[in-house]
Amino acid sequence: HRAAALEAMSRLVVDVPDYPQPGVVFKDITPLLADHDGFHAAILALAESGRDESGTVVVDKVLGMEARGFILAAPVALDLEAGFVPVRKAGKLPRACLSESYALEYGTATLEMHVDAVQPGDRVLLVDDVLATGGTIAATRRLVADAGGVVVGAAVLMELGFLQGRRVLDDVPCTALMEI
Ligand code: AMP
Repeated sequence: HRAAALEAMSRLVVDVPDYPQPGVVFKDITPLLADHDGFHAAILALAESGRDESGTVVVDKVLGMEARGFILAAPVALDLEAGFVPVRKAGKLPRACLSESYALEYGTATLEMHVDAVQPGDRVLLVDDVLATGGTIAATRRLVADAGGVVVGAAVLMELGFLQGRRVLDDVPCTALMEI
C-alpha cells in the first residue's frame, strides 16, 4: 500500500507557494482526495500504523485533528474497525472538553476533545496530513494522556523534515509516508 500511496502522492499532492503566507509551501491534498485509487491507497498505507507485524489491530480509537485530519482519520478508523474521535479547535465541540494549548509562531492555538471520547487504557492512533513543527501532534498526545489513554503512534502523509517536528513528539513513533 505504501508504494501505491507514494506514487499517487507524488502525482496528486500540489505544492502551493506562498500560501497561506509568504515563504510557506502549502501541500494541497485535495487532488489526491478526488482520486479514488490514490485516496484509497493513502488510507490503507496510513492504517498500517494501527496494526502490528502480524496484521493484528493494536488501536481502539483513531484521532483526527481538524480539519484535514478528519478526512483521513475517519476512513482509517473504519479500516481498523476502531472508533473515530475528532480533535477540534477551541469552542467547536458541544459537550465538556479536555483542552490543550500550544505555541504558534505568533500567539497560541488550543485543541479540544470531548472528555469521554477516549477512555482510560484506550490505545490511540493519531492521523493528520502534514507533520510540520509537531505542535499539533504533541498537543493531541497531551489530550490523550489527560484522558488516560495511550498513544500507540502517529501517522501522517507528509513530514516537513526541515522543521524538525519529531523533536517535540518525544517517544511517540510517527510514520510519514513521504518526507520532504
Ligand atoms: P504543526 O503543528 O506545525 O506540525 O502543523 C501541522 C498542521 O498544520 C497540520 O494539521 C497541517 O494540516 C498543517 N500544515 C502545516 N504546514 C503545512 C503545509 N506546508 N501544508 C499543508 N498543511 C500544513
